[in-house]
Amino acid sequence: MQDHIYRCSDGHLYTSTWLRDHCSPVHLGSGTHLHRCPIDHRWRITRRVDANQLSEEQLDDARQHRL
Ligand SMILES: [Zn+2]
Repeated sequence: MQDHIYRCSDGHLYTSTWLRDHCSPVHLGSGTHLHRCPIDHRWRITRRVDANQLSEEQLDDARQHRL
């Protein structure tokens, strides 16, 4: 299953699969969703980010937090 990387409005990075993305309860438009952030467990506006625009460090950070 393919991973996507997301960033919540507080700047936390985490990964989720397209399947969970598809099942997200609230869709707010292209790549923008309301998700429960796995880092601070608050509901946040979340945007998908392009993995190519992140550093290795940021990618590692995101992979440690899986939704
Ligand atoms: Zn967060």
